Amino acid sequence: MSISVEGLRRTYGDLTAVQYLSFKVSPGEIVGLIGPNGAGKTTTLRALAGILRPTAGRVLIGGFDIVEQPLDARRQLAFMPDEPHLFEYLTVEEHLRLIGRLYGVADVDARAQPLLEELELVGKQQALPGELSRGMKQKVVIACGLVRNPPVLLFDEPLTGLDPIGIRRMRDTIVRRARNGAAVLLSSHMLPLVQEVCTRVVIMYRGRKFADGTVQELAERVELHQADSTLEEIFLRITGHDAPAGEA
Ligand code: ATP
Repeated sequence: MSISVEGLRRTYGDLTAVQYLSFKVSPGEIVGLIGPNGAGKTTTLRALAGILRPTAGRVLIGGFDIVEQPLDARRQLAFMPDEPHLFEYLTVEEHLRLIGRLYGVADVDARAQPLLEELELVGKQQALPGELSRGMKQKVVIACGLVRNPPVLLFDEPLTGLDPIGIRRMRDTIVRRARNGAAVLLSSHMLPLVQEVCTRVVIMYRGRKFADGTVQELAERVELHQADSTLEEIFLRITGHDAPAGEA
């Protein structure tokens, strides 16, 4: 199941947050969506998840149009937002069971157990959101998305608020899902990590796609010719924050 974005445009009143945006994510790929604050990344992810209606253009999730066939499309995906919203009166375990019931996951308890271990939430099954740290809440949101094992995963800043071990584990979790065939789109400002896990990167700038390719291809696009150019250097050059060679 792949993600296909075709000429996506989204406005908020007079403001055009995203326009002329097209890209694809195939099964097994992890594509990084990066760009400065306000570039349109969250708007794009929310449109892909079916939360925001595109002003123009099309989003296909596993071939289903997110506007025309919203139920079929949304069944294929999990969107993990950067702000962890949970139900105040439901425990961690109850959240997972609720997802199981809503999406018809018969063996939700059996699936939840290894996931809770993977995300280091063991011992917190009976905790309410108010008893969890920010990073733990974020992990619960991610557990709720992954417990259904959908083929398309959309992550908005999945690493914010996680400790260094949590970041490493989350990285492994994402890579494992892609190896098992998921199409993953991941927005993050943690560029070294994006460079490490992503097979390809889409750079957004002022609502448009500035470039799309491997780190190597992007380096060539911005005329950084060193073989070891980092995504951070590429990003700084695109946004005009790098110093040209020879200048301090
Ligand atoms: P960040 O890196 O800060 O998360 P982003 O790339 O995710 O930024 P968006 O949140 O998609 O950027 O915002 C893109 C543009 O749309 C910004 O100019 C923002 O002010 C505007 N915007 C976002 N949400 C709304 C909204 N609900 N109403 C009006 N304007 C909005």
